[in-house]
Amino acid sequence: MKNISILGSTGSIGTQALEVVSESRDALNIVGLTTNTSIDLLEKQIEKYSPEIVCVMDGNAALTLEKRLKTRGSLVEVVTGLEGLIAVATISKNDLLLTAVSGMIGLQPTLAAINQGIDIALANKETLVAGGKIVMDAAASNGVSLLPVDSEHCAIFQCLMGNKHKEIERIIITASGGPFRGRNLEQLQSVTLEQALKHPNWSMGKKITIDSATLMNKGLEVIEAKWLFNLRQDQIDVVVHPQSIIHSMVEFIDHSTMAQMGMPDMALPIQIAFFYPDRIANNRQALDFNRIRELTFEEPDLISFPCLQLAYDALEASGTMSCVLNAANEVSVARFLNKEIHFCDIPRINRMVMEKHDVISTPTLDDILSVDKWARQIAIAIK
Ligand code: NDP
Ligand code: MG
Repeated sequence: MKNISILGSTGSIGTQALEVVSESRDALNIVGLTTNTSIDLLEKQIEKYSPEIVCVMDGNAALTLEKRLKTRGSLVEVVTGLEGLIAVATISKNDLLLTAVSGMIGLQPTLAAINQGIDIALANKETLVAGGKIVMDAAASNGVSLLPVDSEHCAIFQCLMGNKHKEIERIIITASGGPFRGRNLEQLQSVTLEQALKHPNWSMGKKITIDSATLMNKGLEVIEAKWLFNLRQDQIDVVVHPQSIIHSMVEFIDHSTMAQMGMPDMALPIQIAFFYPDRIANNRQALDFNRIRELTFEEPDLISFPCLQLAYDALEASGTMSCVLNAANEVSVARFLNKEIHFCDIPRINRMVMEKHDVISTPTLDDILSVDKWARQIAIAIK
């Protein structure tokens, strides 16, 4: 039996991961769960999965849950704040930690788990975007596996099985194009929050859904792929593939290209990370090639969707620039969700914060944390 803790168990990935645990017939055991504020759902998860420890990020919500659990005679330990997240991440019983919080709040708990030698199933791409080198170095020196849960990276991971790193020519990350695919800059001026929240193929948390509409999600994935697979940025291409059937591809030096295909369902990448190196049977839907009439491909439109270009620019600038882009984007997306700014302000704010930043080329963790804080302050203040 494998002991697993989940950071962000009440989110889209977290709840799907718990379904995989339920379907695993006792092969997986839950040790710790966490939420930001969703204590009603967390309480149900505690009842069903009997964790030893839970973290509620919000202090008041943590107190409320603690009281409720006490009246029920529950023995679950309730912790709170970043320290609480780190406590769940590093509990010594963990064989694997699924990092499925949204945003760069995942960085420190993930690093702490790595430093305890705990393997990581990584959904939280912002962790690698902000702290890529530090995280990868820590994983290497602790002999820890970083198993990608992002569907594109899981696809690349599968295509690379049995192949050598030096034989990679390039990777091709697929993108659905989001709800505004095909629109030009002028047409994007009139899009609304409600339209941006309607993703054509995937049901996900709000932040990543907006990132998918701006193509920032693809940009963050380019940076994530650079670190996970140790690639140069000129080896990472993006192609728009609206059907989301091919989850990504690897082209080798002999120009043979491997693609991983499947229905758009995050249960598969989660399951692969949980059971690696084994594959296990499941009852999920298989591809039906009699129904899939076509697989199509388009070049991404970097003029209408500048966030993808910003990610390449951040990689070019290297050092702390990706951290700055991520922090600016977390703030601009939150402001858009709050209806303070327009959709097209997201790339504008992200770019302006990047332009103000003096890169630190080999940052420490403290540098990353202070640059993140700085970039958020700038992004909040831009009109
Ligand atoms: P959700 O918003 O659905 O869930 C996020 C989870 O993290 C929730 O449990 C939430 O608690 C918790 N959380 C949010 N903010 C904080 C915080 N500041 N401190 C502590 N906990 C917090 O996100 P998703 O599940 O969609 O995405 C999670 C991560 O996985 C993201 O990094 C995303 O990019 C990545 N990912 C997601 C995919 C998807 O299909 N959803 C696909 C590939 C990657 P609460 O319930 O209280 O809000
Ligand atoms: Mg993805």
